[in-house]
Amino acid sequence: FLALLAQLGLLAVIGLAVLALTAPMPTLIELPWPIALASLTVAYVVIGRHSIDIETDRHSTAIDLSELVFAVALVVAGPVVVIASRIIGGGFDEIRRNRGDHRKLVFNIVLYTAEATAGTAIACVVANESAVTSYRGWLAVVVAMAAMMTVGSLAVVRVIRIHGGTSSARDVARILPIEIGGSLGVVCLGLAIASMLVSDPAAALLLVPPVALLLYSSRSYLHLAQRQQVLGRLHTYSSRVAASTSVEASVEAALRDAADITRAATAELVLLDAAGSAHLLRYDSETGTIVEVDDPAAPADGTAGTGPATLMTPDHVTVPLVLGERQLGVLRVRQRLGADGEFDDADATVLGAIANHAAVAIENARLIDRLRDESHERERLAHQDALTGLANRRGFTAALRAATERHTATGRRFALVMIDLSRFKAVNDTFGHAAGDRVIGAVADRLRSLTRATDLAARLGGDEYAILLDGAGGADAFDFSRRAREAIERPVKHDGVSVMVSASIGIACAPDHGGDERALLHHADVALYAAKEDPSRPIQVFDAAKERATNRRHRLAIDLRHALEADEDLDLFYQPKANLETGRLTGAEALLRWKHPELGYVPPDEFVTLAEQTGLINRLTDTVLRRGIGQAGRWAREGLDLGLSLNVSVANLADDGLPQRVRALLEQHAVDPARITLEVTETDIMRDPQRTTQVLARLDQLGVRLSIDDFGTGYSSLAYLKRIPVRELKIDKCFVSDLETNHSDLVIARTVIGLATNLSISTVAEGVESQGTWDILESLGCHQAQGYLLGRPMPATQFEAFLGDYQR
Ligand code: C2E
Ligand code: CA
Ligand code: CA
Repeated sequence: FLALLAQLGLLAVIGLAVLALTAPMPTLIELPWPIALASLTVAYVVIGRHSIDIETDRHSTAIDLSELVFAVALVVAGPVVVIASRIIGGGFDEIRRNRGDHRKLVFNIVLYTAEATAGTAIACVVANESAVTSYRGWLAVVVAMAAMMTVGSLAVVRVIRIHGGTSSARDVARILPIEIGGSLGVVCLGLAIASMLVSDPAAALLLVPPVALLLYSSRSYLHLAQRQQVLGRLHTYSSRVAASTSVEASVEAALRDAADITRAATAELVLLDAAGSAHLLRYDSETGTIVEVDDPAAPADGTAGTGPATLMTPDHVTVPLVLGERQLGVLRVRQRLGADGEFDDADATVLGAIANHAAVAIENARLIDRLRDESHERERLAHQDALTGLANRRGFTAALRAATERHTATGRRFALVMIDLSRFKAVNDTFGHAAGDRVIGAVADRLRSLTRATDLAARLGGDEYAILLDGAGGADAFDFSRRAREAIERPVKHDGVSVMVSASIGIACAPDHGGDERALLHHADVALYAAKEDPSRPIQVFDAAKERATNRRHRLAIDLRHALEADEDLDLFYQPKANLETGRLTGAEALLRWKHPELGYVPPDEFVTLAEQTGLINRLTDTVLRRGIGQAGRWAREGLDLGLSLNVSVANLADDGLPQRVRALLEQHAVDPARITLEVTETDIMRDPQRTTQVLARLDQLGVRLSIDDFGTGYSSLAYLKRIPVRELKIDKCFVSDLETNHSDLVIARTVIGLATNLSISTVAEGVESQGTWDILESLGCHQAQGYLLGRPMPATQFEAFLGDYQR
């Protein structure tokens, strides 16, 4: 630095020496030197406040107007005053601008001295005693100006380098022509003023307004141009950031554009993550890279500022990233590029706008990320069995479908193994649900350990599992099944007790046993069913020849389970009941209908019996209760005063959970228990009177009504009518339909009605098909009638239409 000062000093001395040897340019206007010095100094100070700014895309430069004064000075003063006024005027200006920076001040004053002496010397040499207003004088001033600027620029480059800044000769070479061009204009203006002063000083005043206008308009133009440029970039930025759907893309756009738009060397984003810890990302405009900096809390130069307020110094601007009340982080730019090298309020405003966009974009991207994660998670859960972590039926069906598609594309075979535990229900009943769950989990673990990564084990529901064996044929699957069965039969320890279950297994192979997942599942099911039926062959591969011979019952049993699981093809119909005396409708009995996709309607007697025999009756009754009580709830909400009778089997009465499930449904649908009647057949109750009594008592406590269905067909002790809380007897239709002609039916009906009336039990006659039957029942004092005379069982919608039309 000192060497640089010395060199500049030397230049000044050489200038002075040259001046001493050269004749000065003639002064055309004689002024006393103090006046000349004072007015020139003032002119330098005043004019030093103004400059013409020229912007290029990466740099900005300011064209100094002091050359204007320099040209005029040569007309009115000798070399000493010319030099002195430049040094003093420039010095004032520097003091005003850099308060406190002594090195910069010293450097600039030395620089002015060197520039002014060298420039004046060169002007005098070139002019060779010609006046400033001559052609040669003009040339002299222009050459001097160019020399002064070159010296000045080189010196500035060096001083910046000395202070560790980046500034290269290449930058100067790019800027210098613009500066010299600009200064040429300024100098010419100065020469014009000088010429006018010489010919007619007053005329020079004419130039003041146009010069002021020029300055003013160049300034406002520049301002507008900058504003427009910034707005344009902001617009591009905001559309880009709006299109970005990831946090990374939003951050990158914010950093790049913040640096670009404010012309900063670096841009930084301190981002707070969900846990509240900060991450600092830094963009370097020179290398165009973004790096995550390790310690975001302590940036090297202490310009941290992560608070909610905007901070601005000439060297950096920090703005908060806020969204509503929440602060997401801060955005900061550092080190303004270009000639003036300082940030101002406009930069803070622009940066604020960028930060606002960035905050919204980052928050949106985070939201999108979260939604994406959640939907993946939901997808995963939807395909997973919560108890065992194996795939569930949905997940397994999807995997089967994928495997079938892969088979079509690549020909790779696979097998489907379906496993059903035997004696599991006994475990549940004897040891409780916890033990049951324990067994289910243990079996799942064992199956999992037998499968390879490309296989898939699933729990289809209850105690039923399935495995998809990749690349396996029938023999492989059979071998796997044997091992699986052995594993399942190993005892499971629970609460110090060893629990044992066994398994039946059915196998179907693709492509031999089906081309799609439905067929494969069905055929594995058929094989499983056969295995369950024949304890001597607990593992069976699907056999098409045997399937053709399989009777209707097997098929219905398999398909009914599917219909119940999928809750499809089943419908509740409603048959009206009326008060015999008044004819008013009192309610309906719900009767289940099953429309088999291929066999058409299956009679309820057939599939209900089948359900009782194959352990599906609980599911069937649950379906009926859920739909029936749901319908009762809708009627109640519509203000319809209707009772609803639902059929339950005696097998359901062995299930202690039934009263609780009924109660939950009643609460869920806000149904008055008194509106619900549960019908149980007489024969059924008689089969297991002890066990059912308890459940019946609890149902009665709930407030639901109990009815004995098909009364009269049981021919058994009537003593239970005292033990069981019965509210209603349903006289079987075999005694009702022939009432008009058959005398013994009439006797039975009269007896039953009399008995019931004595016990305060209500009576319903079912199978009423004629008005004659109706009239007899009315005369016998029977309370309600149900039968084709009133209406056949019908779907809910039709039943509601029937209600509207019904009159009696
Ligand atoms: P149920 O409970 O005795 O039902 C009365 C049966 O008589 C119904 O037959 C009904 O359609 C029929 N019926 C009604 N009025 C007349 C009439 O005027 N003349 C004649 N000939 N028949 C009439 P459906 O619907 O075929 O039901 C047969 C049996 O299936 C039912 O006998 C019941 O034991 C059982 N069932 C039906 N739905 C369910 C249900 O949801 N759950 C249970 N557990 N069993 C059901
Ligand atoms: Ca019934
Ligand atoms: Ca009946």
